[in-house]
Amino acid sequence: MSGMSYGLRRHATSGVLHVRRIVILGGGYAGVRVAQEILRHMDDGELVLIDRGHYHEIVTEMYRVAAGAEEPKGVQLPLRRLLPQKPQLTMLQAEVQSLDVREREVHTDRGRVPYRYLVLALGGAPEYYGVQGAKEYALTLQYLDSAVRVRRRLRSLTASKGGGRIVIVGGGLTGVELASEISEHTQGTFDIAIVQAAPTILPEEDKRLASYAQSELEKHHITVYRGVPVAEVHAHSVKLKSGADLPSDVTIWAGGVRANPIAKEAGLPCDQRGRVLVDAQLEVEGHPGIFAAGDIAHVPSGHSQGALPPTAQLAVQEGLQVGRNILRVLKDEEPQPLHARILGTAAALGDRHGIAHIGRFRLTGRAGHVMHELALLRYLYGAGGLGLLRREAYLSWTRPPQEHVAQSPSSKAGTSA
Ligand SMILES: Cc1cc2nc3c(=O)[nH]c(=O)nc-3n(C[C@H](O)[C@H](O)[C@H](O)COP(=O)(O)OP(=O)(O)OC[C@H]3O[C@@H](n4cnc5c(N)ncnc54)[C@H](O)[C@@H]3O)c2cc1C
Repeated sequence: MSGMSYGLRRHATSGVLHVRRIVILGGGYAGVRVAQEILRHMDDGELVLIDRGHYHEIVTEMYRVAAGAEEPKGVQLPLRRLLPQKPQLTMLQAEVQSLDVREREVHTDRGRVPYRYLVLALGGAPEYYGVQGAKEYALTLQYLDSAVRVRRRLRSLTASKGGGRIVIVGGGLTGVELASEISEHTQGTFDIAIVQAAPTILPEEDKRLASYAQSELEKHHITVYRGVPVAEVHAHSVKLKSGADLPSDVTIWAGGVRANPIAKEAGLPCDQRGRVLVDAQLEVEGHPGIFAAGDIAHVPSGHSQGALPPTAQLAVQEGLQVGRNILRVLKDEEPQPLHARILGTAAALGDRHGIAHIGRFRLTGRAGHVMHELALLRYLYGAGGLGLLRREAYLSWTRPPQEHVAQSPSSKAGTSA
């Protein structure tokens, strides 16, 4: 490992210069918001944003990439466009490998990066609950590369066999959105099953919305196995605890999320899902100067013993609060607690239908779908203002209509992804 990272070498000889260096790990929903908030008000010091990619990925739209309804570039927002290009900002494309919290250094594949303030915003990882074979044989939608793997596999099956069987593990929002989108864009080419351990799909949702979603899945001829946990995943089948063996050409794991393991590996205090424990101000317990936001953080919910759920809307709010708190600490002011607001949920069930739960309103059908689209636009506007909205509108108007996976038997796997 080299002594100092490319792009940060100018600070190598000075212990003083990085006294005000803030290092943010992860350019996702939380990390981008931390960086935007700090850069908006920062006139001296240095902010380093480290991510393995140049892009902020819109994870909530990965199901569309996987189903072939969206191009991969449609869910990538260039990080440099989201952040004000101030001289205080250094963007480092590197893989974070570990943290040395005693020495206050981040170890990356491009060298070590010392910090004064650190923000952990490295997101989550699939939670396999110890199910044998799940990690080896199931695909996921966690990041763009994994969504593209699903897309390629579907295309390859369409080209070679004209379709196949898909088993989606998890009947939460991700599993339900993915199943509906694949069904719609493959026009019945695939037999799709959802396996849900809980007695209903969308167990955390309003009952009326969950039952509407169930009826939409039935219209799409998607089989839902409810109340049956998965026992094992194999290369070509999924075994249920009930004893049933479901043949599967593609198994997709949408069964839960745990934290990126880096915080736990660094010895920071974590919960059972590897989420680092933070106080109401989002500072890691017992580690002043280290903050965390998003899926990597166990943020106290305030109402009960539990943590806030891992969602994009909360990651954004947490990121914003971390940004504000670091600015406060730099001014010798007390950091303030997060007052999280859960605005609601919205999910698409194919191209025209959806469900949404906003405040006391429950919307289904077309209205639910429109609400889902509005939630995305709201996010884009918050992340990049009108400029980003215009870019996205331009891209979607100029994008050629999507080929249905089932209608492109001649396309070789992965040719366009
Ligand atoms: C398929 C799917 C659908 C979802 N749908 C919804 C939805 O509809 N609504 C909703 O509110 N939430 C949804 N979520 C949850 C939401 O996406 C997450 O809560 C949100 O992404 C968390 O933001 P984050 O900033 O913590 O992590 P992320 O957005 O995942 O960002 C983490 C960043 O860290 C980088 N990174 C990770 N490890 C390393 C490393 N070792 N080195 C360098 N960089 C690294 C990644 O490149 C990434 O840019 C969904 C999640 C999934 C997986």
